[in-house]
Amino acid sequence: MSSEIADMARNSGIVGAGGAGFPTHVKLSAKVDTFIVNAAECEPLLRVDQQLMTTCPGKLITGLQLGMKATGAKRGIIAVKRKYKTAIKKLKQVVKADSRIEIFLLDDVYPAGDEHVLVYEALGKIIPESGLPLDIGVVVNNVYTLINLAEAAEGNPIVSRYVTITGAVKNPSTMEFPIGTSIKDAIKAAGGATIDDYQVLINGPMMGTVIAPKKPITKLTSGIIVLPENHFVIRMKTERISSKVIVTKAACIRCQLCTDVCPRFLLGHELHPDKVMRGIAWGAPERPDYMTGTFLCVECGACTYYGCPMGLDPCKMMTEVKGQLRVEGLKNTHNRKVLSIHPEREYRKLPVKRLISRLDLLNYNHECPIRKRKLQIRKVSIPLKQHIGDPAIPTVKVGDSVEKGALIGKIPDGSLGAVIHASISGIIRKIGQEIVIEKTK
Ligand code: SF4
Ligand code: SF4
Repeated sequence: MSSEIADMARNSGIVGAGGAGFPTHVKLSAKVDTFIVNAAECEPLLRVDQQLMTTCPGKLITGLQLGMKATGAKRGIIAVKRKYKTAIKKLKQVVKADSRIEIFLLDDVYPAGDEHVLVYEALGKIIPESGLPLDIGVVVNNVYTLINLAEAAEGNPIVSRYVTITGAVKNPSTMEFPIGTSIKDAIKAAGGATIDDYQVLINGPMMGTVIAPKKPITKLTSGIIVLPENHFVIRMKTERISSKVIVTKAACIRCQLCTDVCPRFLLGHELHPDKVMRGIAWGAPERPDYMTGTFLCVECGACTYYGCPMGLDPCKMMTEVKGQLRVEGLKNTHNRKVLSIHPEREYRKLPVKRLISRLDLLNYNHECPIRKRKLQIRKVSIPLKQHIGDPAIPTVKVGDSVEKGALIGKIPDGSLGAVIHASISGIIRKIGQEIVIEKTK
């Protein structure tokens, strides 16, 4: 039965909906003691997980129970921020029927949903540097992934997802879209942008990226944020790296505040963004530990958007250095198992309210109620790669007629990957990195 559940996830094309898109069937093939639901949704401005917990708590619990069955977990924990009061009330009503499942309340801090932080908060256990929850007998899945698992049990593959559309749009809301809908159409569905010169950010201001509006919604798109093109967050994310290096040399005051707030440093990881910035500004001896420590950076942005008082971007610098070391063929050797929690960790957590203010996003922090989409989606572009692993191989050809839910891409033999399905009924118009389907009626 446990492998049947993993197969079900595989055949439905489920990937981790709240992160980088790791294929869920692989996680479900592990054997663990504890299964944690990551219900933190800690990216500012996003709403979708909180809303789904409120509207379909039963599906989340079913997904969790299936996950526990697949992995043999005896204990299920829903780690949810205590501020999601309505969702917690709804969950409590459903959870009481299963004594193996408990609800753990998290503070409204960033990044409460980082796996290492979440596991430490919920269990008091430390995952080793560069390690996975699996290393200590835990699997973590996010809310949407488990709801997708419950859907898979009902025979429904992933063909759509709810997305929060917010920022400078007429009707900030959360709506369901077929996978492959263009971001431009999604913004139109939310009443359109309220400003002329805008940029689009997906999946949150902290870890999200600026994206062209013609790009499609994927299985991983949780939020679309429309912001003025000269907004602070957009400028930070689009500024050229060469300019960032020049400013680092001129303005880094070596205050260490970037390191002081780093959530992984506070868990004892050998991660020192201040030293990396100093190395960039003043030159570093050949590959010191603090440079290779960039491998431990999860690019959460806390150092940049909360820590640094000089408007510098240590997060981007960590990413650049890490990329350079990889190009040089260097491997990550940081894997200490015994870590010491920083004595001031408790007092250095970043309150999300203050973070939103620092990000200059108070005016865009909308409620975004769930709305029924009125706009009809006539064309979708479904990427063959929406996940970690190899791209799917098309199982259709141009000119084929497909029904919504039909398999259109399979996992290459012997590879890590995820299948994809048609998200609307129509004709296959184009196959490249994306499969384009157009409605004919
Ligand atoms: S982005 Fe900055 S704060 Fe986040 S893990 Fe990396 S160094 Fe630490
Ligand atoms: S917080 Fe900013 S100024 Fe201070 S050490 Fe880090 S990068 Fe330099």
